[in-house]
Amino acid sequence: MKLMNKIGVFGLLLLIMSCSTNPFTGKQTMALVPNTQLFPTAFQQYNQVLSQSKVIKGTAQSEMIKRVGQRISIAAERWLNANGYEGYLNDYKWEYNLIDDKTVNAWCMPGGKIVFYTGILPIAQSETGVAAIMGHEVAHALANHGQQRMSADYIQQGVAMAGNIAIQNDNDREAFNQYYGIGSQVGVMLPFSRSHETEADKIGLILMAMAGYNPSEAAELWKRMKANSGGGAPPEILSTHPSNDSRIQEISSLVPMAVAEAKKFGVTSFRPITKF
Ligand SMILES: [Zn+2]
Repeated sequence: MKLMNKIGVFGLLLLIMSCSTNPFTGKQTMALVPNTQLFPTAFQQYNQVLSQSKVIKGTAQSEMIKRVGQRISIAAERWLNANGYEGYLNDYKWEYNLIDDKTVNAWCMPGGKIVFYTGILPIAQSETGVAAIMGHEVAHALANHGQQRMSADYIQQGVAMAGNIAIQNDNDREAFNQYYGIGSQVGVMLPFSRSHETEADKIGLILMAMAGYNPSEAAELWKRMKANSGGGAPPEILSTHPSNDSRIQEISSLVPMAVAEAKKFGVTSFRPITKF
């Protein structure tokens, strides 16, 4: 009986689990929930965060966040189109908001919903630093890393889902936030895995370089992030993005690849890095 149950659950999982190819890595990834069902939940959750936050509008800084975001999303679209993934971003509804909050964090929800907190700007230091963070967070979303963490967790728990993760209550909301590393009000953040970090670092570097931002600044950014973890409250972003010397070294070693990739798209020089 127990075995039959297990077989039943496994069969159900196979039925509702869809495999898709990650365009940036070429690897097969699993997703229990298709984007068409995940995105509405994400959009709803994003609006909820905005409605509970002090969103900054019409300032030089909020405009800068939008400008960088637009450039990064255009780079993503160009890259995907050039690599045979036309239409990959069809269901995306890009949005870039700056929230007045000293939390050192930034994130991108499924479907291209981005938040930067003002607390991360002193560590970003420049528009190029913002682009490094933006490229990395957008990369997690494009590669569906949050969704993969969620799927893996559900499979581990043997939970068969009806393909519906619509947020019903505070508990669901908290779980959703944990998988996507969102907000400061959630007690426990789940860190991204090492391999997901490497993927996001690589994709992020390509995106920022294609958007005209010097990718060598990314390593400097994560060095500042790491330095900021000593004394006082460690940056929120470090709880989901463990940063160490080997990761920073790896980012540095990937810079020539990003520069070469950008060159393929006609980007041969980068904007000067000017501190705020
Ligand atoms: Zn990350």
